[in-house]
Amino acid sequence: MEDKTTKDGIPFPWELGVFDAHCHPTDTMTSISDIPHMKATALTVMSTRGEDQELVDEVAKQLGDYYHGSKHGNGKIVPCFGWHPWFAHQIRVEGDGEDTTINAIESKTRHYRNVLTGTMGTEAENIAFFKTLPTPKPLSTLLSETKTRLLAHPNALVGEIGLDKAFRLPMPWQEDELDSRNSGLTPGSREGRKLSPYRVVIAHQKALLKAQLQLAGELRRAVSVHSVQGHGVVLECFQELWRGYERKVESKRRRKKMVDQERNEEEEDDDDDDKEKEVDATPLPYPPRICMHSYSGFPEAVKQLLHSSVPSDVYFSFSTVINFTGPTVNRVKSTLEALPDDRILIESDLHTAGKQMDDLLEDVVRTVCHVKGWSLEDGTKLLAENWRRFVFG
Ligand SMILES: [Zn+2]
Repeated sequence: MEDKTTKDGIPFPWELGVFDAHCHPTDTMTSISDIPHMKATALTVMSTRGEDQELVDEVAKQLGDYYHGSKHGNGKIVPCFGWHPWFAHQIRVEGDGEDTTINAIESKTRHYRNVLTGTMGTEAENIAFFKTLPTPKPLSTLLSETKTRLLAHPNALVGEIGLDKAFRLPMPWQEDELDSRNSGLTPGSREGRKLSPYRVVIAHQKALLKAQLQLAGELRRAVSVHSVQGHGVVLECFQELWRGYERKVESKRRRKKMVDQERNEEEEDDDDDDKEKEVDATPLPYPPRICMHSYSGFPEAVKQLLHSSVPSDVYFSFSTVINFTGPTVNRVKSTLEALPDDRILIESDLHTAGKQMDDLLEDVVRTVCHVKGWSLEDGTKLLAENWRRFVFG
């Protein structure tokens, strides 16, 4: 079985459907026209910051939304709307720093002083740095804008959101750097700039993450979660939302009976293919499905996220770039080996669409199949089913 997935020259079964669970093609808008020619079936396209929300919305409108089981042809895009932790400082959580008795500049300075830790050295230097940052956007505005976009795309998810303890804000652009900057890249990301000493305080990141998880629950959308050195706080955040809604831990025998029952019901549903599946729109206090993207956490954390009392279905997504290169590769392999087959997703996490993205997807599918001991065909099918279940429930 191993040979089949690793041997060169085995044609890759694109026709079975390959879905990128997490990518950022709107970071390179010139690559968007390559998407219709890609071999991948559909892309789950993240937004992260002020500069890309509108772009993700536009790309989905232009190339079409992907729906499960649509009989009228399908688009290529599952748009995702969310605010990434790298830009968390740009959001003003209500009540924080807002004071009508002070002017706009003072109010902005106060906000950044509250949400950032670290110092340039002198107070004057700190204030000069805060001045280069944008006027913060109120959380309520972000949430209502995100909600409008999610409602405009019934297939859309919430993402990319999360927590990052390692991240530091980049230094402001210098004149000479601006001259040589690649104008094909959507502004707002780091683009190789030097890092400042400032980090975003965890409580602030957590408040933003929690609010977006709650919005996802309200609209019953899945979420794509970024977590760097923050697995404990992310779990804490989930647990605060799950509290009081835990699933009853059933005995193994009873669980098996329930699974059999569900399976029978599903088979009955299959007989009735023409009937549209009824969608339950009742808001939830937590997101129904969660994807831990480019997952590099420890197996112990996986156990907690997959505990039978957890009311959200948690998936784990892997990329070649983050997970299968670098120092965490062995840990990732043992995590992957221990994961149940139906909770694994694959992604490119790439900032540009086209052949490079297809190549990365092929690569990660082959690697996952190899580690799990699946045949390429069975594995590709399984990963496609997992993605559909993650996105559409
Ligand atoms: Zn990402």
